[in-house]
Amino acid sequence: MTLESQILQAVQRVLPENGEPKPLHAPVFQGNESKYVQETIESTWVSSAGTYVNKLQEDLCSFTGINRAVAVVNGTAALQLALFAAGVEQGDEVLVPALTFVATANAVSHTGAVPHFVDVEESSLGIDVSKLETYLKQHAIVTSEGSYNKHTGRWIRAVVPMHTFGHPAFINQLRSTADRFHLKIVEDAAEALGSYEGGRHIGQLGDVAAVSFNGNKIITTGGGGAVLTNNKDMADKVEHLASTAKVSHSFEFVHDEVGYNYRMPNINAALGCAQLEQLPFFLKTKRKLAGQYAEALSEISGISFIKEREGTKSNYWLNGLLLNDPDMEQRDHIIKKLHDHQILARPVWKPMHYLEMYRDMPKMDLTQTESLYARIINLPSGVM
Ligand SMILES: *Cc1c(COP(=O)(O)O)cnc(C)c1O
Repeated sequence: MTLESQILQAVQRVLPENGEPKPLHAPVFQGNESKYVQETIESTWVSSAGTYVNKLQEDLCSFTGINRAVAVVNGTAALQLALFAAGVEQGDEVLVPALTFVATANAVSHTGAVPHFVDVEESSLGIDVSKLETYLKQHAIVTSEGSYNKHTGRWIRAVVPMHTFGHPAFINQLRSTADRFHLKIVEDAAEALGSYEGGRHIGQLGDVAAVSFNGNKIITTGGGGAVLTNNKDMADKVEHLASTAKVSHSFEFVHDEVGYNYRMPNINAALGCAQLEQLPFFLKTKRKLAGQYAEALSEISGISFIKEREGTKSNYWLNGLLLNDPDMEQRDHIIKKLHDHQILARPVWKPMHYLEMYRDMPKMDLTQTESLYARIINLPSGVM
């Protein structure tokens, strides 16, 4: 039997057969969503203030064990504000994995900084820390005020590890490299709510993290995101920038810098509170689905199922399989075969340095990113 037929059969054994197309994700609303959203409408508190925004922030803190959460309009805005809080300014460079969703690089661009692409490694699908360390030793100059790129002369202010599909990147190892080169760690945890490294929730080990509550993420607020940090000054700065940099005053409109209108509306936060109540159930269901895929695919030679790295707990937001060898033609054959049967599998994102607007950005050798691009196939991962 061909590889694509073997994979199709295995995936069909896992997914319920109800004749419906199987997207990568679909949100599930089985809890208090209608009730809470209805309450915001009845109270007229639907916009950028209200009790659900505070509740969502408090609930996120208790779920993650992180001191502060600031709810904002989406994950990209959360990342942009997190970068500002980390001291990133126009004209700086920020290290970003080339294997990521475009929003990671876009958020850097939105601050006026330049994304500088770094490679990933296979076990975490996140930044290859030892490769980064070697690279920085060759290309960055360390001063008491920070490190700069010796070719471009720009400050390298921060590194943005991304937890791919919910699998924790190597933040512990990254910490010593980041410290050596005076870089802040801004975690793109958009996909990683409910993921843990050594028992600590993602976002605990970096300086500041951004999560997303877009419709395809593990919980949704329609559109939304949050900045998570244990650093009070960073949280205050994010809150300030997200609310038009408004200075507290009993009646005057006073703003002390160019701010943003990025606060999450209360109506979205209401949806989020109801979703967060169900997160433990979503995590359980996703883990079960991942286990079923792992087993069904285990017999097939030439591929492997993407599993959580040892010592970590993934939220298994998005399941995927890995071809042993990079082969775009084979990858696309498999995807097409699955699509023929309503299983809407997808390749991973096109690497950032292949995209028109990011082609000429600074970058290291990206061999592993390019190889993984031709090996990863994501599978339907919704809670069913
Ligand atoms: C979803 C996502 C984002 C952006 O979140 P939005 O809420 O859609 O703006 C950023 N980075 C990664 C890796 C994502 O998956």
